[in-house]
Amino acid sequence: MAKWQHYLRKRITRRFSSMLLLSLLLILAGAVFVLLSTIQILQKYELRSNEIRTKQELVAEIGDYSNEIILRARGYYVYLNQFEYKKMFEAKKGLEQSIADFKRLEFSEDEERLIAEIESFFTDYFDNLLPGAIALAEKGDYEGLRKFVPSGEENPVNELMLFSKEFEQNVQHIAANANDKLIRDLSFQGVLFIIYVCLVLLLSLYISRRVAIDIGQPLGQLAQQASQFGRGHVIHLEDLEREDELGELARSFNDMMVQIQAKEEELLAQNEELIAQQDELQAQQEELQQVVETLEENEVYLTNRNAFIQALANTLDKQELLDSIINNLVRFSDFDKGILVLLNTNNDYAANGVSAAAADGFIHSIGDSMVVRVTETLEPYKLVRDASDGERAYHEQDIQASDLYVPIVNGQQEVIAVLLLTRIGRTITKHEESEIVSLARQVSLALDKLEMYEETARQRQLTRDMINTIQEGIHFMDMQGETLEVNDKMADFFSFFQKGDQRSRFPLDKLLGELEENVTNTSGLTAFIKSIVAGDATASPSVQYEIKQPVHRYMQLYYEPLYRDGVQFGLLLVHRDITREYEVDRMKSEFVSTVSHELRTPLASVLGFAELLLHRELKPERQRKYIHTIHQEARRLTTLINDFLDLQRMESGKQTYIVEPVELTPLIREVVEIQRMGNEKHRFQMHLNNEACTVLGDQDKLRQVLTNLISNAVKYSPEGGEIGINCNVIRGKAILDIKDEGLGIPEDALPKLFNKFYRVDNSDRREIGGTGLGLAIVKEIINQHKGDITVVSEQGKGSTFTITMPLHVQEEHPADLETAGLIRDSAPTVMVVENDHNLSHMLRDELLTSGYRVELFTEGRHAIEQIQQIKPDVVVLDLMLESGTNGWDVIEHMKKSDLLINTPIIISSAFEEKDKASQWGIRDFLIKPYLPGMLSAAVQRALSK
Ligand code: ADP
Repeated sequence: MAKWQHYLRKRITRRFSSMLLLSLLLILAGAVFVLLSTIQILQKYELRSNEIRTKQELVAEIGDYSNEIILRARGYYVYLNQFEYKKMFEAKKGLEQSIADFKRLEFSEDEERLIAEIESFFTDYFDNLLPGAIALAEKGDYEGLRKFVPSGEENPVNELMLFSKEFEQNVQHIAANANDKLIRDLSFQGVLFIIYVCLVLLLSLYISRRVAIDIGQPLGQLAQQASQFGRGHVIHLEDLEREDELGELARSFNDMMVQIQAKEEELLAQNEELIAQQDELQAQQEELQQVVETLEENEVYLTNRNAFIQALANTLDKQELLDSIINNLVRFSDFDKGILVLLNTNNDYAANGVSAAAADGFIHSIGDSMVVRVTETLEPYKLVRDASDGERAYHEQDIQASDLYVPIVNGQQEVIAVLLLTRIGRTITKHEESEIVSLARQVSLALDKLEMYEETARQRQLTRDMINTIQEGIHFMDMQGETLEVNDKMADFFSFFQKGDQRSRFPLDKLLGELEENVTNTSGLTAFIKSIVAGDATASPSVQYEIKQPVHRYMQLYYEPLYRDGVQFGLLLVHRDITREYEVDRMKSEFVSTVSHELRTPLASVLGFAELLLHRELKPERQRKYIHTIHQEARRLTTLINDFLDLQRMESGKQTYIVEPVELTPLIREVVEIQRMGNEKHRFQMHLNNEACTVLGDQDKLRQVLTNLISNAVKYSPEGGEIGINCNVIRGKAILDIKDEGLGIPEDALPKLFNKFYRVDNSDRREIGGTGLGLAIVKEIINQHKGDITVVSEQGKGSTFTITMPLHVQEEHPADLETAGLIRDSAPTVMVVENDHNLSHMLRDELLTSGYRVELFTEGRHAIEQIQQIKPDVVVLDLMLESGTNGWDVIEHMKKSDLLINTPIIISSAFEEKDKASQWGIRDFLIKPYLPGMLSAAVQRALSK
């Protein structure tokens, strides 16, 4: 039992299962008991019912058999029928059987008595009555029979019948009783069963409660203790001895608690250690933080310094370098403004946060400033002063500003520049000062480098200019024949070379390929180049070749090997343009043949006719004719010789020109009038511009030009026609056209037309005499007058020769008004520099009308030359002047002059370059077009300032 209990205690599930099983078993046992007792009751009931029913049936059978016996006996009495007799005994047998059956049943005393009576009756009946009656019947003694039988009538059968009836009623009664009893028994049993079930349930409930208390309570306690433990209380667990799961749970929990407590203590120890470590780390971190901050500061400083030094190395443009230095210094060193001035002749400077006027002012007075001190001491100088109004801005309280002057000293301990840095409202520390001084050293190095670079660049440019200026093409090759450098002249000769710095290296093959394209008959040239590249000592010293394009030229090429330290490193090829010499040679031979032809032909006539006259007798008419021919040929020879000598003089530069303003219009009229005589076939049409067409030149030479051109127009229009002479003034130039409707000139002759002795050779002009020197003389004279001559012609239709010459513009001095004495001597002088002829005159008139003395210049160059002498009170300046000089050059010149630095300048320009103007401190800017009155007003304003 104890073992069983131990088994159940070990598992809660077992306890629950056993409890449930017990309850179910009890309920099952009760149900089985109820079932069995019900079956028993029902069996009893059925047994009793069957007994009663059998008894009833037997009583009824006994009654029936009794009656049948009586009746059959009576029948036999009457009819003496055997059948009846037999039947009577069959009934007697049945009666006996039934009585025997009845006796086997339980019966009451009454029943026993009745059965005994019946038995005794029928025993008597069959033993006594029946034989007596039958004997009487057989005797037919019915009377005796009647008397005999009634006694017999008082038999128990009737009582039996009565009893049977009663018994039947009794049986029903008993059956009803039995039924009632059955219901009562069953009901009682059912109630008992319900009570039993209730008891079982109560028992189960009791057990469940016990179990719940046994399990739930410790479980709840455990949960409570766990939460207390979770809150950190110390707890003591019960139920540790229990064997079931709760016991196990409590023990595990207990173990866990013990472990947790142990771990907690360990963790606490570790935690304390960690806190200690953390404190240590914190201290280290703070230390590191400080180091990092210092490092960051250093990094920023180094980055700035690096950027600054890098910026110094980034450019080799002086202004860009100065700008970069001052901008970076002001920005990185947290200054508010600063200026860096080079102590050179121009005082080049760059400023940050300083206006152009303030910078100009500083530079102007640099000789009286602290700059003198720092240049003497070579030490930086710091000045603390009150901030100026501009520096203080809108603040009312006094603010201090600090200026730091730092000399920039070169390697020879010369101050080459001065740096002035200003900080407003904050001081400059000693540390910052020494940083700036160290940066100043870098600046000095950068300026030295720039100086060296500029010197090298100047040298390089000088060399390049020299090489580019010489008339020979210079062509430098390395030992492999690769072209490394050519001068501009070379690029003029060959278009495949590029001018300027962007020329690329040219491998030998490529060069020879290009020469093939551009040179006629390259074989000699190619062989020469190849042989000198190969170092062939037997190669001829030079070669001549002919360039096809872009300009047809005759060239000579010679070379010089280049040595460095005794080792040859390249070849210098010199290409010389010998076109002129070639032409001269060609012309010389042409000249010899032409001159010999041109001289010999008339001389032959002169000699021939003279001889005829000498040796023959001729008629006077013929003599006159011959003499006339001799005279004509002699004149022709004279003209030829004169022309030739003229040209020679001109070409040799011995011709003197008397230069003076020449009005072309009257000169043209004069020449046309002479040409008109004797040339009636031709119509002369003159379209001469009304404007004065004056050029600077030699009147006689210009007359010769006009004569040659107009006489050619007449000469080469043998059929006559119109000869048009137009003279126009376009864009400051005199343009003269001489147009005819004559023979025209073939296209291939046009390029050679102005060559000496060149004459177009064809049949229609063979009759027309000439020397071929006229146009050459014209060209030479026009060239001397800085002009140009061109020709447009169509064969058979006529030609137009056009001469372009610069117009003579008189730089007029204050004219009428001044000469008329209308301008006061004390009137302010306004210098107007304007290259547009018409506009300049208009401005001059406007200013004269306003009472100013005016000095007018159309060229900036002249203005710069004259301005110091004129000392104008105001300068009105156009920015776009002649090529090579612009308005800014005039301004720069004025700003550098002590005399003119403060002279007001009014810019009159179509370009709105106000920013640049304001950098020079110029505020007066008139943008073209403007009304002339605005100029007078601007001058007035400038003077009143
Ligand atoms: P020339 O003494 O032969 O006239 P020029 O030098 O004056 O010498 O002219 C050179 C050549 O140019 C002439 O031979 C002529 O063929 C041609 N020429 C000059 N002017 C004209 C013209 N107006 N019309 C046609 N051909 C002209």
